[in-house]
Amino acid sequence: MSLADLSLVEAYTLLRRGEISSRELTQAVLDRITALDDELHAFLHIAPELALEQADAADRRRKSEQSSENPLLGIPLAVKDVLTVTGMPCTCGSKILQDYHPPHTATAVKRLQAAGMIIVGKTNTDEFAMGSSTENSAYGVTHNPWDLTRVPGGSSGGSASAVAGRLVPVALGTDTGGSVRQPASFCGITGVKPTYGRVSRFGLIAYGSSLDACGVLGRSSEDVAAVFSAMAGKDPLDATSQEIPLKPIPLGGSQDLRGVRIGVPREYFIEGIQPEVEARIREAIEVLRSLGAEIKQVSLPHTEYAVPVYYVIAPAEASANLARYDGIRFGPRVEGDSMWDIFTRTRGGKFGSEVVRRIMLGTYALSSGYYDAYYGQAQKVRGLIKHDFEQVFQDVDAVACPVAPTTAFKIGSHGDDPLAMYLEDIFTLPANLAGVPGLAFPVGFDGKGLPVGMQLMGRHFDETCLFKISHAYQQVTDWHKHAPALG
Ligand code: GLN
Repeated sequence: MSLADLSLVEAYTLLRRGEISSRELTQAVLDRITALDDELHAFLHIAPELALEQADAADRRRKSEQSSENPLLGIPLAVKDVLTVTGMPCTCGSKILQDYHPPHTATAVKRLQAAGMIIVGKTNTDEFAMGSSTENSAYGVTHNPWDLTRVPGGSSGGSASAVAGRLVPVALGTDTGGSVRQPASFCGITGVKPTYGRVSRFGLIAYGSSLDACGVLGRSSEDVAAVFSAMAGKDPLDATSQEIPLKPIPLGGSQDLRGVRIGVPREYFIEGIQPEVEARIREAIEVLRSLGAEIKQVSLPHTEYAVPVYYVIAPAEASANLARYDGIRFGPRVEGDSMWDIFTRTRGGKFGSEVVRRIMLGTYALSSGYYDAYYGQAQKVRGLIKHDFEQVFQDVDAVACPVAPTTAFKIGSHGDDPLAMYLEDIFTLPANLAGVPGLAFPVGFDGKGLPVGMQLMGRHFDETCLFKISHAYQQVTDWHKHAPALG
């Protein structure tokens, strides 16, 4: 067994006992990346020297802080390439930010660095996080470690593939409409999208500012909770971040769900859902019931509008956020005869087709004459979706449902059909529109051996409840321990 196979909690135990050093662990992770990333293409940038330097610093710190109970000290981490880290490029999977070196580090990353985590590199993503398969990256597609002919999901597909392939124990992703939860589901790992405002967005390169969240992907609920807790909290650099105390997350051996009420929304078991996905979710719900949870049928009646609402609001916000990439301040410039010529050639030549589609959709939805009919209307329906959750959370503490209607699909299978790709997001978009937290974790496999993920959604700022439920489940099942055969 390589040290790269250790989960965060396992690595922490050995580091604390002095049985391994962070340098050994980091070296094992770098070796594993070298051995497997040609196949997976999870990484866009690897920083071996920087990582080993940080590992040595963590080893020195562990010696001087004998009593340290910090589970993150000396643990390697991969970061999705839409989060900034000084000393590393940040491309957002786009040619328009090729070789861009940001002058700042994202607050979430900074907090993890302060806790002593080792940043080993940046992971692949759909261009500007727009996509559900990582096929929209300008730098090539990432492969699913369970089946290399399939997508890892997206847009945080690089992070999901890296964690599932045991290249790193944990990774950061971002989730605007499902980009942490859906790849976690497709790759058989655990991922959290925190409540909007729980984790600072400073240094998260903006896609849809009212929806964007920085999340974590890892092997278990326990691993993800450790990283999430260290990133959470108010940041003066993000006015929407909030200082709402995080209730202690019960981990260890706890598997008692008595007193927890879980709702199963009928709108999430629709026609068209892969029957094996539904079967695995129903089985997992029975496991939760056997641990003492009270299971209730609930209704989120406006779920069917999530796709059209999201695909107006997210592109509208994106069209404004992406206006800054004009070849003047960031990234490469295509020269031209006039300022407008430079803008047009740079944007026309460097943005990929999905990004162009979103900018056009968003610009149209915001244009005078259409604003009320599209953007204004979408905001009203967003309010109804939010209201659905407020109603449901009067009766239950969390909602349990599938993450996605299918397991991982074949690379290229949705290539010329953007609408089919958008429909993949149906179950993950509502949490972003409502701002509530969501968590994905593996609950079995389909007939092809591809992982199925269950999603939990909870009240604003109650991530703790989601960790408690998924952790209890992982105490009595071992789906999260299955690893794909690679290498
Ligand atoms: N698939 C969705 C989109 O393309 C969500 C992406 C995300 O969460 N970043 O917009």
